[in-house]
Amino acid sequence: MSHLPSEPEFEQAYKELALTLENSSLFTKKPEYRTALKVASIPERVIQFRVVWEDDAGNLQVNRGYRVQFNSALGPYKGGLRFHPSVNLSILKFLGFEQIFKNALTGLMMGGGKGGADFDPKGKSDAEIRRFCDAFMRELCKHIGADTDVPAGDIGVSGREIGFLFGTYRKQRNKFEGVLTGKGLDWGGSLIRPEATGYGLVYYVGHMLEYAGAGGWAGKRVAISGSGNVAQYAALKCIELGATVVSLSDSKGSIVAVGDGHVTAEDVEAIANLKVKRQSLSTYAIRDGLKYIEGVRPWMHVGKVDIALPCATQNEVSKEEAEALVAGGTKFIAEGSNMGCTLEAIEVFEGNRREKKGDAIWYAPGKAANCGGVAVSGLEMAQNSQRLAWTKEEVDDKLKDIMKNAFQRGLDTAKEYVETAEGELPSLVAGSNIAGFVKVAQAM
Ligand code: GLU
Repeated sequence: MSHLPSEPEFEQAYKELALTLENSSLFTKKPEYRTALKVASIPERVIQFRVVWEDDAGNLQVNRGYRVQFNSALGPYKGGLRFHPSVNLSILKFLGFEQIFKNALTGLMMGGGKGGADFDPKGKSDAEIRRFCDAFMRELCKHIGADTDVPAGDIGVSGREIGFLFGTYRKQRNKFEGVLTGKGLDWGGSLIRPEATGYGLVYYVGHMLEYAGAGGWAGKRVAISGSGNVAQYAALKCIELGATVVSLSDSKGSIVAVGDGHVTAEDVEAIANLKVKRQSLSTYAIRDGLKYIEGVRPWMHVGKVDIALPCATQNEVSKEEAEALVAGGTKFIAEGSNMGCTLEAIEVFEGNRREKKGDAIWYAPGKAANCGGVAVSGLEMAQNSQRLAWTKEEVDDKLKDIMKNAFQRGLDTAKEYVETAEGELPSLVAGSNIAGFVKVAQAM
Protein backbone atom coordinates (compact mmCIF):
# COMPACT_ATOMS: atom_id res chain seq x y z
CA MET A 1 0.00 0.00 0.00
CA SER A 2 1.33 3.40 -0.93
CA HIS A 3 1.45 6.01 1.82
CA LEU A 4 0.78 8.71 -0.79
CA PRO A 5 -2.72 10.10 -1.41
CA SER A 6 -4.42 8.73 -4.49
CA GLU A 7 -4.07 10.94 -7.58
CA PRO A 8 -6.39 9.32 -10.14
CA GLU A 9 -5.88 11.76 -13.02
CA PHE A 10 -2.11 11.84 -12.62
CA GLU A 11 -1.94 8.05 -12.28
CA GLN A 12 -3.98 7.73 -15.49
CA ALA A 13 -1.66 10.07 -17.43
CA TYR A 14 1.42 8.29 -16.06
CA LYS A 15 0.01 4.85 -16.89
CA GLU A 16 -0.94 5.94 -20.41
CA LEU A 17 2.64 7.03 -21.10
CA ALA A 18 4.40 4.23 -19.21
CA LEU A 19 2.36 1.47 -20.89
CA THR A 20 3.25 2.64 -24.38
CA LEU A 21 6.94 2.80 -23.42
CA GLU A 22 6.76 -0.70 -21.85
CA ASN A 23 5.03 -2.16 -24.90
CA SER A 24 7.69 -0.86 -27.27
CA SER A 25 11.31 -1.86 -27.75
CA LEU A 26 12.53 1.34 -26.01
CA PHE A 27 13.58 -0.13 -22.64
CA THR A 28 15.24 -3.10 -24.34
CA LYS A 29 17.28 -0.74 -26.47
CA LYS A 30 17.92 1.78 -23.67
CA PRO A 31 17.46 0.19 -20.22
CA GLU A 32 18.70 3.35 -18.46
CA TYR A 33 15.55 5.13 -19.61
CA ARG A 34 13.56 3.16 -17.01
CA THR A 35 15.31 5.24 -14.37
CA ALA A 36 14.68 8.39 -16.41
CA LEU A 37 10.94 7.60 -16.34
CA LYS A 38 11.04 7.10 -12.58
CA VAL A 39 12.82 10.42 -12.10
CA ALA A 40 10.57 12.25 -14.58
CA SER A 41 7.44 11.07 -12.78
CA ILE A 42 8.15 13.31 -9.77
CA PRO A 43 7.83 17.09 -10.22
CA GLU A 44 11.01 19.07 -9.64
CA ARG A 45 8.97 21.38 -7.41
CA VAL A 46 5.36 21.95 -6.36
CA ILE A 47 4.28 25.33 -5.04
CA GLN A 48 0.97 25.55 -3.13
CA PHE A 49 -0.45 28.72 -1.73
CA ARG A 50 -3.44 30.47 -0.26
CA VAL A 51 -5.30 33.05 -2.37
CA VAL A 52 -7.38 35.47 -0.32
CA TRP A 53 -9.50 37.94 -2.29
CA GLU A 54 -12.44 40.24 -1.75
CA ASP A 55 -15.80 39.71 -3.45
CA ASP A 56 -18.13 42.50 -4.58
CA ALA A 57 -20.00 42.43 -1.29
CA GLY A 58 -16.76 43.15 0.57
CA ASN A 59 -16.46 39.62 2.01
CA LEU A 60 -13.16 37.77 2.07
CA GLN A 61 -13.00 34.60 -0.02
CA VAL A 62 -10.20 32.04 -0.05
CA ASN A 63 -9.00 29.55 -2.68
CA ARG A 64 -6.14 27.13 -3.20
CA GLY A 65 -3.44 28.15 -5.71
CA TYR A 66 -0.78 25.89 -7.24
CA ARG A 67 2.13 25.78 -9.64
CA VAL A 68 3.66 22.41 -10.52
CA GLN A 69 7.18 22.95 -11.90
CA PHE A 70 7.49 19.49 -13.37
CA ASN A 71 10.55 19.34 -15.60
CA SER A 72 13.06 21.94 -16.79
CA ALA A 73 15.42 19.69 -18.79
CA LEU A 74 14.42 21.36 -22.06
CA GLY A 75 13.89 24.93 -20.91
CA PRO A 76 11.90 27.12 -18.54
CA TYR A 77 8.80 25.43 -17.11
CA LYS A 78 5.99 26.14 -19.53
CA GLY A 79 2.29 25.43 -19.34
CA GLY A 80 -1.05 26.97 -18.61
CA LEU A 81 -3.04 28.02 -15.56
CA ARG A 82 -6.45 26.43 -15.01
CA PHE A 83 -9.12 28.16 -12.92
CA HIS A 84 -11.89 25.65 -12.29
CA PRO A 85 -13.57 24.32 -9.12
CA SER A 86 -12.32 20.78 -9.92
CA VAL A 87 -8.64 21.85 -9.78
CA ASN A 88 -6.50 19.86 -7.35
CA LEU A 89 -2.96 18.55 -7.29
CA SER A 90 -3.83 15.33 -9.13
CA ILE A 91 -5.29 17.26 -12.07
CA LEU A 92 -2.41 19.73 -12.21
CA LYS A 93 0.17 16.93 -11.98
CA PHE A 94 -1.53 15.10 -14.86
CA LEU A 95 -1.58 18.29 -16.93
CA GLY A 96 2.02 19.16 -16.03
CA PHE A 97 3.21 15.64 -16.84
CA GLU A 98 1.49 15.71 -20.26
CA GLN A 99 2.91 19.16 -20.86
CA ILE A 100 6.53 17.97 -20.50
CA PHE A 101 6.26 15.62 -23.47
CA LYS A 102 3.91 17.82 -25.48
CA ASN A 103 6.36 20.69 -25.25
CA ALA A 104 9.18 18.36 -26.33
CA LEU A 105 7.16 17.41 -29.42
CA THR A 106 6.98 21.05 -30.53
CA GLY A 107 10.75 20.97 -31.06
CA LEU A 108 11.07 24.25 -29.09
CA MET A 109 13.10 24.62 -25.90
CA MET A 110 10.44 24.51 -23.20
CA GLY A 111 10.20 22.49 -20.00
CA GLY A 112 6.84 21.41 -18.58
CA GLY A 113 4.65 22.82 -15.85
CA LYS A 114 1.06 23.63 -14.98
CA GLY A 115 -0.78 25.62 -12.36
CA GLY A 116 -4.08 27.10 -11.38
CA ALA A 117 -6.64 27.39 -8.64
CA ASP A 118 -9.92 25.85 -7.52
CA PHE A 119 -11.53 29.24 -8.19
CA ASP A 120 -14.77 29.14 -10.21
CA PRO A 121 -14.97 32.08 -12.65
CA LYS A 122 -18.65 31.27 -13.39
CA GLY A 123 -21.00 33.86 -11.97
CA LYS A 124 -18.16 36.21 -10.94
CA SER A 125 -18.08 39.85 -12.00
CA ASP A 126 -15.13 41.27 -13.97
CA ALA A 127 -14.01 43.11 -10.83
CA GLU A 128 -14.04 39.87 -8.81
CA ILE A 129 -12.02 38.09 -11.51
CA ARG A 130 -9.52 40.95 -11.46
CA ARG A 131 -9.18 40.90 -7.67
CA PHE A 132 -8.74 37.13 -7.73
CA CYS A 133 -6.06 37.29 -10.48
CA ASP A 134 -4.27 40.05 -8.57
CA ALA A 135 -4.23 38.06 -5.31
CA PHE A 136 -3.15 34.89 -7.16
CA MET A 137 -0.25 36.62 -8.93
CA ARG A 138 0.97 38.41 -5.79
CA GLU A 139 2.11 35.01 -4.58
CA LEU A 140 2.89 33.29 -7.91
CA CYS A 141 5.16 36.16 -9.05
CA LYS A 142 7.80 35.07 -6.53
CA HIS A 143 8.28 31.79 -8.36
CA ILE A 144 8.13 32.61 -12.09
CA GLY A 145 10.06 34.66 -14.67
CA ALA A 146 10.80 34.79 -18.40
CA ASP A 147 13.73 32.35 -18.00
CA THR A 148 12.32 30.39 -15.06
CA ASP A 149 8.66 29.55 -15.57
CA VAL A 150 6.26 31.00 -18.13
CA PRO A 151 2.55 30.33 -17.46
CA ALA A 152 -0.27 30.85 -19.98
CA GLY A 153 -3.99 30.17 -20.15
CA ASP A 154 -6.01 26.98 -19.89
CA ILE A 155 -9.64 26.35 -18.91
CA GLY A 156 -10.99 29.49 -17.17
CA VAL A 157 -7.95 31.60 -18.07
CA SER A 158 -7.92 33.53 -21.34
CA GLY A 159 -6.82 36.94 -22.63
CA ARG A 160 -8.60 38.96 -19.97
CA GLU A 161 -7.17 36.95 -17.05
CA ILE A 162 -3.67 36.97 -18.59
CA GLY A 163 -3.97 40.78 -18.72
CA PHE A 164 -4.86 41.05 -15.03
CA LEU A 165 -2.10 38.59 -14.08
CA PHE A 166 0.53 40.36 -16.20
CA GLY A 167 -0.35 43.75 -14.72
CA THR A 168 0.22 42.48 -11.20
CA TYR A 169 3.49 40.75 -12.15
CA ARG A 170 4.82 43.94 -13.76
CA LYS A 171 3.98 46.04 -10.73
CA GLN A 172 5.10 43.55 -8.08
CA ARG A 173 8.41 42.65 -9.74
CA ASN A 174 9.00 45.99 -11.48
CA LYS A 175 9.77 44.12 -14.69
CA PHE A 176 8.29 44.08 -18.17
CA GLU A 177 9.24 40.70 -19.56
CA GLY A 178 7.71 37.76 -21.42
CA VAL A 179 6.66 36.01 -18.22
CA LEU A 180 3.22 35.01 -19.47
CA THR A 181 2.05 34.00 -22.94
CA GLY A 182 -1.33 34.63 -24.49
CA LYS A 183 -0.81 38.35 -23.88
CA GLY A 184 -2.73 41.05 -25.76
CA LEU A 185 -1.24 42.16 -29.09
CA ASP A 186 -0.53 45.68 -27.79
CA TRP A 187 1.65 44.50 -24.94
CA GLY A 188 3.77 41.63 -26.22
CA GLY A 189 1.31 39.00 -27.40
CA SER A 190 1.69 37.00 -30.60
CA LEU A 191 -0.65 36.95 -33.56
CA ILE A 192 -2.36 33.55 -33.99
CA ARG A 193 -1.91 32.61 -30.28
CA PRO A 194 -5.68 32.55 -29.56
CA GLU A 195 -6.27 30.47 -32.70
CA ALA A 196 -3.20 28.24 -32.33
CA THR A 197 -4.51 25.17 -30.48
CA GLY A 198 -7.60 24.80 -32.70
CA TYR A 199 -5.80 25.60 -35.96
CA GLY A 200 -2.87 23.35 -35.03
CA LEU A 201 -5.24 20.47 -34.32
CA VAL A 202 -6.81 20.83 -37.77
CA TYR A 203 -3.37 21.04 -39.44
CA TYR A 204 -2.30 17.88 -37.57
CA VAL A 205 -5.40 15.94 -38.63
CA GLY A 206 -4.79 17.14 -42.20
CA HIS A 207 -1.55 15.11 -42.13
CA MET A 208 -3.38 12.08 -40.74
CA LEU A 209 -5.93 12.31 -43.58
CA GLU A 210 -3.20 12.61 -46.17
CA TYR A 211 -1.12 9.72 -44.81
CA ALA A 212 -4.20 7.48 -44.63
CA GLY A 213 -5.13 8.38 -48.22
CA ALA A 214 -8.44 9.90 -47.08
CA GLY A 215 -8.14 13.12 -49.12
CA GLY A 216 -8.46 16.61 -47.63
CA TRP A 217 -10.84 18.28 -45.18
CA ALA A 218 -13.42 19.28 -47.81
CA GLY A 219 -16.67 17.37 -47.42
CA LYS A 220 -15.74 15.67 -44.11
CA ARG A 221 -18.33 15.53 -41.30
CA VAL A 222 -16.76 16.55 -38.02
CA ALA A 223 -18.05 16.20 -34.46
CA ILE A 224 -16.47 18.67 -32.02
CA SER A 225 -17.02 18.88 -28.26
CA GLY A 226 -16.43 21.98 -26.19
CA SER A 227 -17.17 25.61 -27.03
CA GLY A 228 -14.15 27.38 -25.57
CA ASN A 229 -11.13 28.73 -27.35
CA VAL A 230 -9.89 25.37 -28.72
CA ALA A 231 -13.28 24.19 -30.02
CA GLN A 232 -14.12 27.58 -31.53
CA TYR A 233 -10.98 27.89 -33.64
CA ALA A 234 -10.95 24.21 -34.58
CA ALA A 235 -14.53 24.63 -35.84
CA LEU A 236 -13.73 27.81 -37.74
CA LYS A 237 -10.72 26.24 -39.46
CA CYS A 238 -12.73 23.10 -40.35
CA ILE A 239 -15.46 25.29 -41.86
CA GLU A 240 -12.85 27.38 -43.74
CA LEU A 241 -11.43 24.18 -45.25
CA GLY A 242 -14.84 23.01 -46.46
CA ALA A 243 -15.72 20.50 -43.74
CA THR A 244 -19.15 20.23 -42.10
CA VAL A 245 -19.17 20.74 -38.33
CA VAL A 246 -22.07 18.91 -36.67
CA SER A 247 -21.66 19.63 -32.95
CA LEU A 248 -20.34 21.80 -30.12
CA SER A 249 -20.94 21.38 -26.39
CA ASP A 250 -20.33 22.65 -22.87
CA SER A 251 -20.53 21.10 -19.42
CA LYS A 252 -24.34 21.31 -19.47
CA GLY A 253 -25.20 19.89 -22.90
CA SER A 254 -24.61 19.74 -26.66
CA ILE A 255 -25.70 21.52 -29.81
CA VAL A 256 -26.09 18.93 -32.57
CA ALA A 257 -26.98 19.26 -36.25
CA VAL A 258 -30.25 17.76 -37.49
CA GLY A 259 -30.95 16.71 -41.08
CA ASP A 260 -28.87 18.82 -43.47
CA GLY A 261 -28.11 21.33 -40.72
CA HIS A 262 -24.61 22.25 -39.58
CA VAL A 263 -22.76 24.67 -37.34
CA THR A 264 -21.80 27.82 -39.30
CA ALA A 265 -19.03 30.35 -38.68
CA GLU A 266 -21.78 32.79 -37.55
CA ASP A 267 -22.94 30.25 -34.95
CA VAL A 268 -19.37 29.89 -33.67
CA GLU A 269 -18.98 33.66 -33.39
CA ALA A 270 -22.29 34.06 -31.56
CA ILE A 271 -21.37 31.23 -29.19
CA ALA A 272 -17.95 32.80 -28.57
CA ASN A 273 -19.70 36.05 -27.53
CA LEU A 274 -21.94 34.12 -25.21
CA LYS A 275 -18.97 32.35 -23.63
CA VAL A 276 -17.18 35.65 -22.96
CA LYS A 277 -20.23 36.51 -20.84
CA ARG A 278 -19.81 33.12 -19.12
CA GLN A 279 -23.24 31.98 -20.33
CA SER A 280 -24.17 28.39 -21.06
CA LEU A 281 -24.85 26.98 -24.55
CA SER A 282 -28.45 26.35 -23.52
CA THR A 283 -29.04 30.11 -23.85
CA TYR A 284 -28.05 30.05 -27.55
CA ALA A 285 -31.04 30.82 -29.77
CA ILE A 286 -31.29 27.55 -31.63
CA ARG A 287 -32.29 27.85 -35.27
CA ASP A 288 -33.55 25.30 -37.80
CA GLY A 289 -30.97 22.63 -38.51
CA LEU A 290 -29.60 22.52 -34.96
CA LYS A 291 -30.95 21.16 -31.68
CA TYR A 292 -29.82 21.47 -28.09
CA ILE A 293 -29.67 18.30 -26.01
CA GLU A 294 -29.30 18.82 -22.30
CA GLY A 295 -26.93 16.79 -20.14
CA VAL A 296 -25.09 14.90 -22.89
CA ARG A 297 -21.79 14.94 -24.72
CA PRO A 298 -22.10 14.91 -28.51
CA TRP A 299 -20.52 11.54 -29.39
CA MET A 300 -23.62 9.31 -29.21
CA HIS A 301 -25.87 11.93 -30.83
CA VAL A 302 -24.06 13.02 -34.00
CA GLY A 303 -24.84 10.09 -36.29
CA LYS A 304 -22.16 9.19 -38.81
CA VAL A 305 -19.09 11.43 -38.75
CA ASP A 306 -15.68 11.02 -40.38
CA ILE A 307 -13.70 12.87 -37.72
CA ALA A 308 -14.18 13.41 -33.96
CA LEU A 309 -12.34 16.19 -32.14
CA PRO A 310 -12.76 16.21 -28.34
CA CYS A 311 -11.96 19.82 -27.39
CA ALA A 312 -13.53 20.25 -23.94
CA THR A 313 -11.71 18.63 -21.01
CA GLN A 314 -10.15 15.40 -19.70
CA ASN A 315 -11.95 12.04 -19.89
CA GLU A 316 -14.69 13.32 -22.17
CA VAL A 317 -14.79 10.18 -24.33
CA SER A 318 -15.70 7.00 -22.45
CA LYS A 319 -15.33 3.39 -23.59
CA GLU A 320 -19.01 3.29 -24.55
CA GLU A 321 -18.73 6.52 -26.54
CA ALA A 322 -15.55 5.26 -28.24
CA GLU A 323 -17.40 2.10 -29.26
CA ALA A 324 -20.27 4.19 -30.63
CA LEU A 325 -17.85 6.30 -32.69
CA VAL A 326 -16.15 3.19 -34.09
CA ALA A 327 -19.52 1.54 -34.85
CA GLY A 328 -20.67 4.73 -36.57
CA GLY A 329 -17.71 4.57 -38.94
CA THR A 330 -15.59 7.45 -37.55
CA LYS A 331 -12.13 7.12 -39.07
CA PHE A 332 -10.11 9.79 -37.25
CA ILE A 333 -10.11 10.98 -33.66
CA ALA A 334 -7.69 13.63 -32.39
CA GLU A 335 -7.70 15.31 -28.99
CA GLY A 336 -7.80 19.10 -28.77
CA SER A 337 -8.27 18.65 -25.03
CA ASN A 338 -5.66 17.15 -22.71
CA MET A 339 -6.33 13.44 -22.03
CA GLY A 340 -9.72 13.79 -23.72
CA CYS A 341 -10.14 10.01 -23.93
CA THR A 342 -10.17 7.56 -21.04
CA LEU A 343 -7.63 4.70 -21.06
CA GLU A 344 -10.48 2.33 -21.97
CA ALA A 345 -11.54 4.53 -24.90
CA ILE A 346 -7.96 4.65 -26.19
CA GLU A 347 -7.83 0.86 -26.00
CA VAL A 348 -11.01 0.68 -28.13
CA PHE A 349 -9.37 2.86 -30.80
CA GLU A 350 -5.97 1.17 -30.63
CA GLY A 351 -7.55 -2.31 -30.67
CA ASN A 352 -9.54 -1.37 -33.75
CA ARG A 353 -6.39 0.02 -35.43
CA ARG A 354 -4.50 -3.22 -34.84
CA GLU A 355 -7.39 -5.43 -35.93
CA LYS A 356 -8.69 -3.60 -38.94
CA LYS A 357 -5.37 -2.32 -40.26
CA GLY A 358 -5.82 0.23 -43.08
CA ASP A 359 -9.59 0.56 -42.58
CA ALA A 360 -9.37 1.31 -38.88
CA ILE A 361 -10.05 4.36 -36.74
CA TRP A 362 -6.83 6.33 -36.19
CA TYR A 363 -6.33 8.03 -32.81
CA ALA A 364 -4.02 10.99 -32.10
CA PRO A 365 -3.27 11.92 -28.47
CA GLY A 366 -3.59 15.49 -27.19
CA LYS A 367 0.09 15.84 -26.42
CA ALA A 368 0.76 15.71 -30.17
CA ALA A 369 -2.46 16.94 -31.76
CA ASN A 370 -2.99 19.95 -29.48
CA CYS A 371 0.66 21.05 -29.15
CA GLY A 372 -0.02 24.02 -31.46
CA GLY A 373 -1.17 26.19 -28.56
CA VAL A 374 1.95 25.87 -26.49
CA ALA A 375 4.03 25.95 -29.69
CA VAL A 376 2.79 29.45 -30.49
CA SER A 377 3.37 30.31 -26.82
CA GLY A 378 6.98 29.29 -27.50
CA LEU A 379 6.97 31.57 -30.56
CA GLU A 380 5.58 34.38 -28.37
CA MET A 381 8.51 33.85 -25.98
CA ALA A 382 10.92 34.02 -28.94
CA GLN A 383 9.35 37.28 -30.16
CA ASN A 384 9.49 38.75 -26.64
CA SER A 385 13.19 37.85 -26.36
CA GLN A 386 13.85 39.52 -29.69
CA ARG A 387 11.60 42.48 -28.78
CA LEU A 388 9.96 42.01 -32.18
CA ALA A 389 6.54 40.98 -33.46
CA TRP A 390 6.13 38.63 -36.40
CA THR A 391 3.35 38.79 -38.99
CA LYS A 392 0.32 36.51 -39.00
CA GLU A 393 1.72 34.63 -42.00
CA GLU A 394 5.11 34.09 -40.31
CA VAL A 395 3.52 32.67 -37.17
CA ASP A 396 0.97 30.56 -39.07
CA ASP A 397 3.68 29.12 -41.34
CA LYS A 398 5.81 28.22 -38.32
CA LEU A 399 2.77 26.64 -36.63
CA LYS A 400 2.11 24.55 -39.76
CA ASP A 401 5.73 23.35 -39.79
CA ILE A 402 5.62 22.47 -36.09
CA MET A 403 2.40 20.45 -36.50
CA LYS A 404 3.83 18.64 -39.52
CA ASN A 405 6.99 17.77 -37.60
CA ALA A 406 5.03 16.65 -34.52
CA PHE A 407 3.00 14.30 -36.75
CA GLN A 408 6.04 13.03 -38.63
CA ARG A 409 8.06 12.43 -35.46
CA GLY A 410 5.23 10.42 -33.91
CA LEU A 411 4.87 8.39 -37.06
CA ASP A 412 8.59 7.71 -37.56
CA THR A 413 9.14 6.91 -33.89
CA ALA A 414 6.24 4.44 -33.89
CA LYS A 415 7.78 2.70 -36.89
CA GLU A 416 11.16 2.57 -35.11
CA TYR A 417 10.02 1.24 -31.73
CA VAL A 418 6.71 -0.56 -32.19
CA GLU A 419 6.08 -3.63 -34.31
CA THR A 420 3.55 -2.72 -36.96
CA ALA A 421 1.95 -5.33 -39.22
CA GLU A 422 1.86 -4.92 -42.98
CA GLY A 423 -0.80 -2.35 -43.90
CA GLU A 424 -1.38 -1.33 -40.25
CA LEU A 425 -1.46 2.39 -39.45
CA PRO A 426 1.38 3.16 -36.98
CA SER A 427 0.29 3.96 -33.40
CA LEU A 428 0.44 7.74 -33.03
CA VAL A 429 -0.07 7.48 -29.28
CA ALA A 430 2.93 5.18 -28.85
CA GLY A 431 5.06 7.10 -31.35
CA SER A 432 4.30 10.51 -29.82
CA ASN A 433 4.82 9.30 -26.24
CA ILE A 434 8.15 7.69 -27.09
CA ALA A 435 9.38 10.62 -29.21
CA GLY A 436 8.54 13.17 -26.50
CA PHE A 437 9.95 10.99 -23.72
CA VAL A 438 13.23 10.20 -25.52
CA LYS A 439 13.94 13.87 -26.10
CA VAL A 440 13.37 14.72 -22.44
CA ALA A 441 15.24 11.66 -21.13
CA GLN A 442 18.24 12.50 -23.29
CA ALA A 443 18.27 16.08 -22.04
CA MET A 444 17.93 14.93 -18.43
N1 GLU B 1 -2.94 25.24 -21.77
C1 GLU B 1 -2.38 24.97 -23.06
C2 GLU B 1 -1.96 23.53 -23.16
O1 GLU B 1 -2.56 22.68 -22.55
C3 GLU B 1 -1.31 25.98 -23.46
C4 GLU B 1 -0.16 26.11 -22.54
C5 GLU B 1 0.80 27.24 -22.90
O2 GLU B 1 0.59 27.92 -23.88
O3 GLU B 1 1.76 27.40 -22.16
O4 GLU B 1 -1.07 23.17 -23.88
